[in-house]
This record gives sequence, C-alpha cells and structure tokens, in this order.
Amino acid sequence: MSVVGIDVGFQNCYIAVARSGGIETIANEYSDRCTPACISLASKNRTIGNAAKSQIITNFKNTVHGFKKFHGRAVDDQFVQGEKSKLPYNLHKLDNGSTGIKVRYLNEDKVFTIEQMTAMLLTKLKETSEHALKKPVVDCVISVPSFFTDVERRSLMDATQIAGLNCLRLINDTTAVALAYGIYKQDLPNPEEKPRNVVFVDIGHSSYQVSIASFNKGKLKVLATAFDPYLGGRNFDELLVEYFCGDFKNRFKLNVKDNPRALLRLYQECEKLKKLMSANSSDLPLNIECFMNDIDVHGKMNRVQFEEMCAQLLMRVEAPLKSVMEQSKLSRDEIYAIEVVGGATRIPAIKERISKFFGKDISTTLNADEAVARGCALQCAILSPAFKVREFSITDAVPFPITLRWKSQTDESVGCSMLLVYKEYSKRENIFSTNKMQVDQEGQGEQPTEEEKMNNSGNKDGDKQDQGASSSKANTKVKSVDLPIWANTTRQLDQDVLNNFVDYEKKMIIQDKLEKERNDAKNAVEEYVYEVRDKLCGIYERYVTEDESNRLTIMLEDTEIWLYEEGEDQEKDIYQDKLSELKKFGEPIEERYREHEGRPRAFDELGKKIQLFMKAVDMYKQKDERYQHLSAEEMSVVEKSVCEALGWMNTKMNAQSKLTVAQDPAVKVAEIIQKIQELEDVCHPVFNRPKPKTEEPVEEGDKNNGAHNGPAAQQGADSKGNQQMKPPSGEMEVD
Ligand code: ATP
Ligand code: MG
Repeated sequence: MSVVGIDVGFQNCYIAVARSGGIETIANEYSDRCTPACISLASKNRTIGNAAKSQIITNFKNTVHGFKKFHGRAVDDQFVQGEKSKLPYNLHKLDNGSTGIKVRYLNEDKVFTIEQMTAMLLTKLKETSEHALKKPVVDCVISVPSFFTDVERRSLMDATQIAGLNCLRLINDTTAVALAYGIYKQDLPNPEEKPRNVVFVDIGHSSYQVSIASFNKGKLKVLATAFDPYLGGRNFDELLVEYFCGDFKNRFKLNVKDNPRALLRLYQECEKLKKLMSANSSDLPLNIECFMNDIDVHGKMNRVQFEEMCAQLLMRVEAPLKSVMEQSKLSRDEIYAIEVVGGATRIPAIKERISKFFGKDISTTLNADEAVARGCALQCAILSPAFKVREFSITDAVPFPITLRWKSQTDESVGCSMLLVYKEYSKRENIFSTNKMQVDQEGQGEQPTEEEKMNNSGNKDGDKQDQGASSSKANTKVKSVDLPIWANTTRQLDQDVLNNFVDYEKKMIIQDKLEKERNDAKNAVEEYVYEVRDKLCGIYERYVTEDESNRLTIMLEDTEIWLYEEGEDQEKDIYQDKLSELKKFGEPIEERYREHEGRPRAFDELGKKIQLFMKAVDMYKQKDERYQHLSAEEMSVVEKSVCEALGWMNTKMNAQSKLTVAQDPAVKVAEIIQKIQELEDVCHPVFNRPKPKTEEPVEEGDKNNGAHNGPAAQQGADSKGNQQMKPPSGEMEVD
C-alpha cells in the first residue's frame, strides 16, 4: 500500500511520501519539489506541471491554471463569472450547468470538466510519486481548503477516481499542518493537563485560512476555523499588474489589457517583483524586453509604495484571526504559538499584521511550502496498516452543517423529516460518508437512535440536533435496516460519466507516452548529430580517414537540415531508422577510439597473467616444495596453455602494430579478456587444489611461527586443516 500525501494548491502542488526513514517531500523530473498546477493541451499531447508552466505565454489559450476553485461550481456562479474575464482560456457551460474548460486538444475543440482537469494534474503527481517510490501509487490523502463545501469535496474526490487514485481521506489544509506540527512534538501536555493551543495560518495564492488547534499528548482537536477564501498572493499580484498597466499606458502608450500574452508576462514579472520586495525594501526595477509592439518597458517599485497600494488587502488579514479567537473563546495569553505557512505569509506586512494581532512573534518552524503535503502523508500513514505510526487522534471542525432529510413510505404529508447531524463548526473525527447508515426501524415511522445514527460515519460525539419528526421512543421491537443516503447535489458525476472519464484519462496517458517516445526518438537523432560532429573534430579525429570524415560530416549536415524541414514531425520509427543509418557509419569510428583506449590495459593484464603462471611452472620445475603435490601431467597442461596464450598475444600485437589508428583493430578488447578467462579456466583449478596436510612433528620453537614461513606465506589452510595452494600473487616480481 502506498503512503502518499498530496497538497493540490491553486498554484503549487507538493507530494510527500512515507518511507522507512520518515516523511519525505519528493522532487519531480525537474528536481523541483513544487509542481505547478498547470496543464497545457496541444495537438499531439498534454504537458503537465513545470513543462506546462513554460507554455503559459506561448500556448495561452490552451494552458489551463487557476481552476481549483471551480470545483463543484456552476458556470453562472458569481465567483466563476468574476474569474472568467481574467482567464486566458475559455470556460464552457456543461449540460448540468457546471463549469467546463474549452481547449484545442489533438486538433479538435474539446471541453473538459474541472474534475478531468484536476485528474490530469493528479495523474502527473501520481507518476512523480511512483517514480520516487518505484512502485504503483494508489492510496493517498489529499488536502482541501477548509472552506470547501461538500459539493466541492465530492467533485475533487471524483477527480481522484479519474486519475486512478484511491483517496483515503480529504484533510483540511490547516488540519494537515496541525498534524505535521503536533505528531513529532515530544513535550505536549498530558491528557489531563491544560492543552497547548496553537494558531495555524495558511495564506496561499488564492486563499487565506486560519485555525486554532489544541494539543495534548497523542491528540489534536481543531477548536476553530476561519478564512477569507478570496485573499491570497494573487490579489497582491493583481494590484501590481493594475499599477503597471496604468504606468505603461501613461509612459509608453500601451494598452496591456488588450494583449493577453503581454498581460500574462506582466503577471509573471509582477509576481517576481512581489517576492523580491519581501526580501528587499529598496527600489526594485521591473524590466521587460520586447514587451509589446517591440517596445522594452521598465518601471520600479519599493516595499513602502507596495504596502500603501495594498492597504485594503492588508486590512483583511485581521478578520479571520478575530473570528477564530471568538469561536474558540480563548484569550490571547492562552495561545502558545502562531505557526504560519503558505507562500504569501512571506510578505512582511502580512507577517507584521498577524504578529501585531496576537501581540507576539509568529513562528515559522514548519516548512511553509511543504507542511500541508507532509501532514497529508502523515494522515495517510496513520490510515495505512503498512506503517506503524505513533497513536494520534485528530478531531476536526468543518465549517458547514450536514442535514439528513427523508420521507417515510408511510408518510403521506407533503414535507419530509429532517435531522441536523452536524452543526457548522462542530467537531468531527471523520469527514461524513454518504454510503450507508444503519438505523433502527421502530413500529411507527423511522427515527435513528442517537447512537446508531452515526454508526457508519464513525462519529460518536458529533454535535447533533434533532429538528425533525417526533422522537417518541415507543417500546416496540427494533429492527436495523440499511439506509442509503444520496447527496443532494446536481453537480456530482454519474457513475457512467465517471467511468468514461476514467477510460479517457487512460487514453490520454497512452497518447502522452507515445508522443514522449516519438520526441525522445527525435531528440536522440539530434543529440547524435551534435555529439558526433563535436567528436569528429575532437577525440575521434585521429581515428577517422579523411574520406570517412568528409562523408560523415555531410551525412550529419543533411540530417540536421532534415530535422528542421521534412523530419520536423515524423513517426517514431522514421527517427529510429535515421539514427541507425548514422550509427552504421559513426559506430565503427567510435569503436576504434574505444578499442584503442582500452587495448593497452587489456594486453597488460593478459601479459601479467602469462608471466605469473609461467613463473609457477618454473618453480615447479625447480622442485619448489609448494608445487610438488601437483602432477607432471597437469603442469604440462598449464604450460601448454600459457605458451599458447603467449603465442596468441604476440601474433595479435604484431598484427595490430602494422595498423594505423584509423583502421579497424586486429584484435578487440573483448577477445583479450576472453583469452585471460580461458587461461584462468585452465590454471586456477590446478593451483587452487588444496595441498594435502602433512603430519610432520612440529618443533617447540616453530609453534608460534607456523610450519612454513617465507615463500609458503601464500598458503592458507581450509577448515579441515588441508593447505591450499595459491598461484603466485600479482605482487610477485617476475623477471
Ligand atoms: P492555495 O493555498 O491558495 O491553494 P497554493 O497552495 O498554490 O495556493 P502557495 O504555494 O502556498 O499557494 O503560495 C503561493 C503564493 O505565495 C503565490 O502568490 C506566490 O507569489 C506567493 N509567494 C511565494 N513566495 C513569496 C515571497 N517570498 N514573497 C511574497 N509572496 C510569495
Ligand atoms: Mg496551499
């Protein structure tokens, strides 16, 4: 089972995984731990993440970003309509009124649902985690903003299914952060002691969330949650963009807003400037070359000016802080720490305001970018049977109520019965399941008992209010029945539709894979052209005749031209054939070079072996006692083999010396290595045969020195006391 946590941000996504060493945030193929929430659709494939981000300007109509908050929303929704004018791509009204995204994909107009768009992103994040974990990833925990409604959460869950993920739980952003904060803390108060209250602030690109959690050993409880869903880093970018649009209109007479590409560039530059201003209070330049109509633009800004400009936004920092304090009924002295995460909390004026509100310094002990993903991975590890995690219970608060409505078959009245299961902000240990509940069926009407109402949602201490049918508990027989629950949402995908999306996502994955292979094949040709051309005037120069060099140079030049013209857009096998054609000429040259480099070492090795074994034969002939247990026959076989190898080596060396380096070699390194092996195969079994143990009486004085010093130091004894012969070692000097 995989243990993966995913923070799907409005702008940035992070993945954390649990490995034996602990929780680790992982990097994508660009060695970047942040994957932009961006998808670019094109005529042959999709690109997702970093590669898509680089298409934002060039392929602006089909590069989709900033769509997270369209989950579960109708296109006519006020928020969606407000966003529409700022988007470089087109929105589309789906049949059920939901928001769709219209793009050009595979040379066709295509509308994708938001669930499909998020699924594309999740597919990428899934692949990244699979690459890091080197195994399939299915189970995961994903974060959502705490203000996401039930419909929005369901929509995200649908996206996870399209991507082939099994999302074990959605966890609120700030709850994930609280978990990442608390689970490693060794010094939390004991359960009977006063809890430690910590404020968590997350300001990302699109939203601002705050929560207060109380901690005791082994548990956290979210006491309060508040948010401004429309305040994030992007609001600050928008103000800068507004300012420079005005500035450039005055000074350069440019209507930036009429030019989507220029506007997108300005957004990117303003975001950079905003980040720079967090670290630097002096005047900072904003320069963009060839901005519009071939005009280079330049402007400047400093932090004081910026803060004045953003005064209205900065004033909005306080309200959610006030709200959580009121909900929790805590005083400021009861707050132990204020932990801030999310990229926009790096803006100094935001930090100042938070700190001023609480009258104390804020803490940045958590990783501002990765804490949410790490919390998700921890939650996944807690849920996974494969991981042993310290006991830690989480009681969350959700800012929307859950009400059940039902109509009994026997109920003839117009209205229906209703039960408020959770009030808004009630504490819940699990986010609510609509699969099935079990209720008791009594004699008259249907009314779940307090205890059994929550049987399947796992919550026993939820804040429940009965507002519905009469709760008379007749003393009649009680029967438990399954009560299926349907979510009252018109925007959830039907199972058939979902299945089609799952299939279509798989098709797109295959299409992307094929396109990648095609591109890799093309790149391989291009790389080969450049590499060989470089080496022809470098390391290969000596190994090629003038004729060959001219011929290959022309071939490389032709291929280069072909790649830009006819070969610009070909099938994979055409590129593979092209590469093979080039390699037919290039590889013999490369081989000559490689052989020439490796040959001296191989001959040297063979020479040494021949000398060593020859020396052993000589010593045998000189009656050296170390070899006298070997028979004359086997020594004759050894000698023959050594002489044969020597003859072979001399012949090959002789033949090679008559060739130039630009000719194919007379002998290959692999053949020399083969010869060494053959020689060893004959000689080693002879020399490795143990020498029988001799039962000579040992003189007193010899006891400590061993029976055979000097040349016999090379001999070892096996466990039975038999002595083993080794051929003379490589260090032996042989004349
Ligand atoms: P959300 O949480 O709203 O879904 P997100 O998780 O994608 O969005 P983050 O990655 O937490 O957002 O933060 C991104 C925002 O932080 C961007 O607006 C970015 O410009 C801003 N940001 C990052 N670094 C800095 C900095 N040094 N100074 C100012 N702003 C910064
Ligand atoms: Mg975020």
